[in-house]
Amino acid sequence: MQSIDVLIAGAGFSGLVVAQRLSEAGLKCVIVERRSHLGGNAYDKPDKNGVLYHCYGPHYFRTNSKAVRDYLSRFTEWQPADYRVKSRTHGKYWSFPVNLATFEQLTGRPATEEEFIAWLETERVPCAHPANSEEVILASAGRTFYELFFQGYTLKQWARHPRELDASVCSRIPIRTARDDHYLREEFQALPAEGFTRLFERMSEASPNLEIHLNTDFLTGRHRWQPRHTVFTGPVDAYFNYAHGHLPYRSLRFEVESLTADDLRAQKRGAVSGSPGHWQPALQVNYPNDEEFTRIVEIKHATGQQTPHTNIVREYPLPADAAHEPYYPIPAPDTRAQYEKYRTAAAQEKNTSFIGRLATYHYFNMDQVVALAMKEADRLLPMLLADPVAVPCPE
Ligand code: FAD
Ligand code: UDP
Repeated sequence: MQSIDVLIAGAGFSGLVVAQRLSEAGLKCVIVERRSHLGGNAYDKPDKNGVLYHCYGPHYFRTNSKAVRDYLSRFTEWQPADYRVKSRTHGKYWSFPVNLATFEQLTGRPATEEEFIAWLETERVPCAHPANSEEVILASAGRTFYELFFQGYTLKQWARHPRELDASVCSRIPIRTARDDHYLREEFQALPAEGFTRLFERMSEASPNLEIHLNTDFLTGRHRWQPRHTVFTGPVDAYFNYAHGHLPYRSLRFEVESLTADDLRAQKRGAVSGSPGHWQPALQVNYPNDEEFTRIVEIKHATGQQTPHTNIVREYPLPADAAHEPYYPIPAPDTRAQYEKYRTAAAQEKNTSFIGRLATYHYFNMDQVVALAMKEADRLLPMLLADPVAVPCPE
């Protein structure tokens, strides 16, 4: 058994950020990652034609945090990204998220913002404090758009009615009355210029006291190390051997299709807004009603890679189980109550931190887990440097 300072389970954003910051300060860190690669769900790689794609669904980096942006900028340049999405239903592409252009498509005539606001007033179902995802969309966009774009998509994605999900789920999507179809709200929106995987490699290269063991499960392999502190970023229920039952997570099946320039020609696809080598008219097309998949992503629209080939990825939702990775915690009152038992157990676990999307059962974006991992490293660092034995548990 090897004595080390910190053993970290998981080489996603959460694990890598903590490891990078602690090892840079001189602490001996080991990451064990059960997959064969760095980066967790943000991992990307080239397909057989050399076209980069996001292997576990699209990862649109965005943040309002200068600290997060400055930190990650140590390891990457940025490619500004214009994340544009359409929704496809009733046989056409709709401007999405809901905005003035969507209203014009609905009515079939040009409109002003004032007309749209007046129409919304008649459509909206007033609700002072929306308590779930149905109420929040009915209150902001009204029933027509709720039924067109949200109800079916949400049922597919979560296998739950929007009424049984926190308001925070559907309110991730903006509703606007102006002619503004940006998908996201954050002020900084960009992708790592050479991809996420290169960013993760640079983070590990900048960590002189860090050892990484891929293809290694923490739960079965941890006995090889004797750490002073442990950071766990995997599913919290697995850590406690499901003592309080299995937490429900949603999973996805990704269907990747690589298309050469010849394939695109044969399918009579190819040029979008004068830019060659594209399959669909936007980065992401959502399918709320008509298909088994929820969305098709053609990431080349955002990476800006110069190539005549492309790829598309379809996402089919399903429950997480032994054969399907947990990707999404399910934000809802009943799942939160179940998680609460694990949160209590985690808080009592000696010399162990639980961080990240799976270990805290929270629907975090990348910048949020980076910020929280930076904070946890800042909390641990003085204690580990000052006291060779004890680190109190976080609250
Ligand atoms: P993860 O990335 O899940 O990493 C956890 C790691 O721990 C994994 O590599 C896993 O293999 C490993 N692990 C688990 N158990 C063990 C074990 N027992 N032993 C060893 N290793 C273990 N965020 C955005 O900001 N923008 C987006 O557009 C966006 N899109 C997304 C799309 C999809 C389909 C998904 C699923 C997520 C998306 N996210 C997005 C969220 C983003 O993926 C997360 O915020 C971020 O990757 C979480 O990092 P993490 O390190 O906490 O978890
Ligand atoms: N959503 C929807 N229709 C859409 C897009 C999103 O109903 O066309 C709802 C759905 O419940 C989804 C949630 O809004 O899970 C958040 O969407 P987002 O695009 O942020 O999902 P993510 O990229 O995190 O999977």
